[in-house]
Amino acid sequence: MSHVTSLSSNVPDITIPADLLPGDGRFGSGPTKVRREAMEALAERATDYMGTSHRQTTVQLMVAELRNGLAELLRAPDGYEIVLGNGGSTGFWDCATFGLIENRSHHLSFGEFGGKFASGVTKAPHLAAPSIAESEPGTHPPLTAVDNVDAYCYTHNETSTGVMLDPLRVDDPNALMIVDATSGAGGLMFDAGTTDVYYFAPQKALAADGGLWIAMMSPAAIERIERIAASDRWVPPSLDLKIALDNSRKDQTYNTPALATVFLTTDTVNWFNDNGGLSWAAGRSRQSAEILYGWAEASPVASPFVQIESQRSLVVATIDFDDSVSADTIDNVMRANGIIDINGYRKLGRNQLRIAMFPAIEPSDTEGLTHCLDYVIAALG
Ligand SMILES: *Cc1c(COP(=O)(O)O)cnc(C)c1O
Repeated sequence: MSHVTSLSSNVPDITIPADLLPGDGRFGSGPTKVRREAMEALAERATDYMGTSHRQTTVQLMVAELRNGLAELLRAPDGYEIVLGNGGSTGFWDCATFGLIENRSHHLSFGEFGGKFASGVTKAPHLAAPSIAESEPGTHPPLTAVDNVDAYCYTHNETSTGVMLDPLRVDDPNALMIVDATSGAGGLMFDAGTTDVYYFAPQKALAADGGLWIAMMSPAAIERIERIAASDRWVPPSLDLKIALDNSRKDQTYNTPALATVFLTTDTVNWFNDNGGLSWAAGRSRQSAEILYGWAEASPVASPFVQIESQRSLVVATIDFDDSVSADTIDNVMRANGIIDINGYRKLGRNQLRIAMFPAIEPSDTEGLTHCLDYVIAALG
């Protein structure tokens, strides 16, 4: 409590005029804005869905709706399946370590998340030491073929640095393309056929809550899972992708999922599909990105952190500030005015704000945010 008090007493007393404020102040990169409409729809199901068995039809139908809706949204090619389980994307890294990498993987490490997956794999006693390509923060390494690997692992959108990498298939017929799309899925266009495993969690571009992992898997990925499951490799049951696959095909999960998360994710996926699908959802993010990066490029004190435009994320913006203004102070003033979670990623250690532009965020609110930034920067000046 005293910590909070002393922090807030250091925040300059600046009140942003109400007519400048965005309709919703949540611009965090995850958990991120959940739509009020989705929460109200969940409340409608307070007694006939919440608190009911995940082994009965009501919940199974919701899981089926989610799996079908995602296959439509992500334009799953023939034979691709939507698989889900508990543990979020972090849990999925362990699932992949046990159930997808046969012997040796290649990783692109260009931020916190890709780096964590690579470091977990490095410690796995049943796998050979992985190949890891790194690059300067704010860039991604090239995605190229590597000898003797059976899986390529990289991130669609590196949430920590705001760098995106359009999924590509490396010319290596026996290897799987395993893509961490935690903050990309639903917000970025891509060609599903270039991926074998496109996995994510719903608390980012899908505007729901955490706890689940979801993966769209190709026939080759499913074949890999079945082959490893038939081998003598020991796999803990909660991380066993064969068990997850068998349960998903029955519209269930191995153990109890968060029913609210399942519901909220389905609600967002339906909202996207009803309005035109991935191009509509990604178009909203692109609109916000044009507004925000356009603002930064025109600002005398701000600039986009990611220099190479094709690598600049359309769902998470990282904006650098020059020495004349403190990003932390801007963040504190914004928070005091109800605009929250735009602090930079701590470990990057830059004078930076990180702002989500996921599809559920109204582009007009992104516009409003830029007016608030102008107001606060002028008031601090
Ligand atoms: C948030 C995030 C994760 C971790 O997701 P959890 O569901 O919290 O485990 C992994 N990868 C990326 C790219 C992320 O943005």
